[in-house]
Amino acid sequence: MNQNLETLCIQAGYSPKSGEPRQIPIVQSTTFKYATSEDMGKLFDLEASGYFYSRLANPTCDAVAAKIAALEGGAAAMLTGSGQAASFYAIFNIAGCGDHVVASTAIYGGTYNLLSVTMKRMGIDVTFVDPDASEEELSRAFRENTKAMFGETIANPALNVLDIEKFARVAHAHGVPLIVDNTFATPVNCRPIEWGADIVTHSTTKYMDGHGAALGGVVVDSGKFDWTRYPHKFPGLCTPDESYHGVTYTERFGLAGAFITKCTAQLMRDLGSVQSPQNAFYLNLGLESLPFRIRQHCANAQAIAEFLSGHPKVAWVKYCGLKGDKYYDLARKYLPNGSCGVISFGLKSGRKGAENFMAHLRLGAIETHVADSRTCCLHPASTTHRQMTDAELEAAGVGADLIRLSCGLENTQDLISDLAQAIEKA
Ligand SMILES: *Cc1c(COP(=O)(O)O)cnc(C)c1O
Repeated sequence: MNQNLETLCIQAGYSPKSGEPRQIPIVQSTTFKYATSEDMGKLFDLEASGYFYSRLANPTCDAVAAKIAALEGGAAAMLTGSGQAASFYAIFNIAGCGDHVVASTAIYGGTYNLLSVTMKRMGIDVTFVDPDASEEELSRAFRENTKAMFGETIANPALNVLDIEKFARVAHAHGVPLIVDNTFATPVNCRPIEWGADIVTHSTTKYMDGHGAALGGVVVDSGKFDWTRYPHKFPGLCTPDESYHGVTYTERFGLAGAFITKCTAQLMRDLGSVQSPQNAFYLNLGLESLPFRIRQHCANAQAIAEFLSGHPKVAWVKYCGLKGDKYYDLARKYLPNGSCGVISFGLKSGRKGAENFMAHLRLGAIETHVADSRTCCLHPASTTHRQMTDAELEAAGVGADLIRLSCGLENTQDLISDLAQAIEKA
């Protein structure tokens, strides 16, 4: 049965049998008991499915991962301890020392560092590309040893909207998968796999949890990328894994299972960035109300963006739901029902005005977080980016006047009144 998203958010991933708990149980156990060594041996050889140690798999985490796979229209998924771990696992599962990846410049700062500093130290080279470049220009970034292309549906904090079909065409022309971080859009507003993405990642810390309660991440595989067409490029998936008794993931698990099984059986086994069952439980509570919350986040952001853009003391507003925004047309295509709750804007009174505005906010709290139920606000020039000069800020796309506002779930008029009084005092 083809169910709608609201139904999947409630029902997917867990179907209790008669007399079992209605809510997903928190299986707070590191290990699982077996009657014979032989029974357990079959699990170790990946010959039977089941649980033996929660670093590899846990029933609570598996149920929540299966729900997110259903929401994204994917074949399989794996939870991770954070969004950073999800990005790392998605890339490292197919790229190693001596390889190369192509990534959009408009991505989360943590992912930018992961690629440009930490993964570089592991011998994985990265070329950053302007996501708005032509297909010819994007193609020039690819090399013989390129293993993946990476972008964000809606970039945090730049708020660019990714032309997913364009990126997918370029990636596939070079025989590599497209990985899309879909944290800001969530599957409620965009399902990148339907537009050609092969792997989707999330920081579930943001809208999916939605209450600022639990750090987490997820990797979802579409099961559509045919690794066996490029066995020389993806030996980890297409040739025997000696650390798993010579299993060849694509042969044993097919295209639907190869990527996530390798990611779990090999990378999670060796690196261990698991999500705790307790956090997975909180994440699942967030997922149940995700469609309803996302609608309110987007309605608040749209109303506030319109209010700000009509205000005489506001210099500029960036939000793809505003007519005239650079990404309005792409948003109409990929995000027809709304984009996200995050806006950026600047006041005519510049850096000083931003500092005064922040000091006078009553509802909007000053936090580095985004995308939860409480409205929050950040002035990067005086906090996260305070070591930079005004010229460096400009070059990083974070002007000295930029205020990032994450619209929560409060009453729209209450939020607008709060912003209005803070702008007056700025
Ligand atoms: C926050 C964020 C991340 C990192 O997630 P954590 O859960 O904080 O590790 C990755 N991508 C995007 C788009 C984010 O907003």
